[in-house]
Amino acid sequence: MPQEMYKQATPYIPSKGESYMSSKQLMHFRNILEGIKFELGQDIDRTVHTMQDEATIFADPNDRASQESDMALELRNRDRERKLIKKIDETISKIDTGDYGYCESCGVEIGLKRLEARPTATLCIDCKTLDEIREKQVAK
Ligand SMILES: [Zn+2]
Repeated sequence: MPQEMYKQATPYIPSKGESYMSSKQLMHFRNILEGIKFELGQDIDRTVHTMQDEATIFADPNDRASQESDMALELRNRDRERKLIKKIDETISKIDTGDYGYCESCGVEIGLKRLEARPTATLCIDCKTLDEIREKQVAK
């Protein structure tokens, strides 16, 4: 998942003595997630329109080939966006259930800084690192 997908929102500065994942913090991350979801939704709408506009048949076979690969790329992007939207929905429901901000694997606080950079993070940095090492070993 490319990091640049996330528009950098103003980072949340917790007030002194504020507890982790206070209602204000949850509101902050909910806003970020809703914002990303909204933008992704607009991208998908735009893709659909582009594809409809371009559904003309080119007489030149070279044009046709490039049109087809454009479409394949668009479809792949849409698939990725749909998956990301699903992930965002899952993350928002974690906010609702009060599970947001804690590592799915070991239960520690993921941390505000990490969540600002990756609002959909479900693992703490340690578990994520272990996960990546394991993935690499499986790939070998
Ligand atoms: Zn963890």
